[in-house]
Amino acid sequence: MTEPLALHGGKPAKTKDFPAWPYYDEREEHALMDVLHSRAWWRNVGHQTTALEQEFAALHNVRFALGVMNGTVAIEIALLAAGIGDGDEVLVPALSFISTATAVLAVNATPVFVDVDPHTGCMDLDAASCAVTPRTRAVIPVHLAGHPCDLDALSLLARKHQLLVIEDAAHAQGAAWADQHVGALSTAATFSFQSAKLMTAGEGGMIISQDEAFIERCQLFANCGRLHHDRSYNHSVIGTNARLSEFHAALLRVQLTRLKDQTDARAAGFAQLSARLDIPGVRLLHPDPRVTRHAFYLAMLRFDPQEFGGLSCEGFANALQAEGIPASIPYPPIYHLPVFERQAFAPRQRNTRQLVHQRAPHCPNAEAFVQRTLWLNHRVLLGDGQDLSECIEAIRKIHVAMNGSPVPA
Ligand SMILES: *Cc1c(COP(=O)(O)O)cnc(C)c1O
Repeated sequence: MTEPLALHGGKPAKTKDFPAWPYYDEREEHALMDVLHSRAWWRNVGHQTTALEQEFAALHNVRFALGVMNGTVAIEIALLAAGIGDGDEVLVPALSFISTATAVLAVNATPVFVDVDPHTGCMDLDAASCAVTPRTRAVIPVHLAGHPCDLDALSLLARKHQLLVIEDAAHAQGAAWADQHVGALSTAATFSFQSAKLMTAGEGGMIISQDEAFIERCQLFANCGRLHHDRSYNHSVIGTNARLSEFHAALLRVQLTRLKDQTDARAAGFAQLSARLDIPGVRLLHPDPRVTRHAFYLAMLRFDPQEFGGLSCEGFANALQAEGIPASIPYPPIYHLPVFERQAFAPRQRNTRQLVHQRAPHCPNAEAFVQRTLWLNHRVLLGDGQDLSECIEAIRKIHVAMNGSPVPA
């Protein structure tokens, strides 16, 4: 007899919760209280943001970093500082969180959607090369799921076409390709510390760069157009206020001290899960062997719908969630999001319709990727042996149910 799925009222495969996220202990409590009592709550009178910037830059082996409010403005500010604007085209992968593309629109440039590699979901750099026109100024690769894209090929692409590179490393704190950290070879890399990310203060972001003048321009745009130490209202560009607060920075400094161990633990969890997962039609997507540090923001599960009675990605994710496994569908191709499909742009974005339509996207790999890939949250990889067994059991239950009973409509 097949066991009923939790989705249909059966007992969930998961009997206890995965480790909670975000993780914290008394060190975060002390860090927050220390800032509170110091009354140094913003960066100009405190030292937490500056210290975090130094520590985060050191982790990536780069010289400079700038803390900002979130990963979305980090990309916008990096584009502004790079001088990207009207008339410029910027290559972005078809699969990412929407901010990768909307940041380009926010500076009045045109995002050009590039298809992805079928194995990693990262931007296909050959396709990127084909998408270059005389107007292409920059490329924003995304290290999807914490898997760095091919940084060597990326450098070659950038050199060949004279492109600026801004890596969207929101998933990839500390990741490395062939011993080269993300961000080290590019104009900049940007990070997010939003609640789901690998280190977090609820919100937060960072820009890193080897280029002092570039980081200084970022600082201008993120600090209402003036440098942090300016006291004479010397506003030289039109910027915004994207400063990180000292509370955020203090939390993030503690979170950063755990990043290495947690990344090791996720890598070990991935290896175990991969070795023990032996169910027809499903496997984990493995990192490229040249990756020397995968951040494992997600474990990506590739499945063959035929082996699961024609189950859709969404149906699979719903069934896993009901079993107690934090699974989700991947990002849809950005150009399919309602705001793009319905052209639901605000009046102030007068040029956006035209910008998006200049280049009609056609990304078959991205379309195929999202139909047979599931995302497992990084909490799964931090689980113990029992957690991993129950995760596998949940997948097995679904496999049995989908093969033993008719496919639900
Ligand atoms: C989270 C995320 C962002 C945006 O970061 P926020 O801090 O949420 O603004 C950008 N790009 C990718 C790939 C992300 O996952």
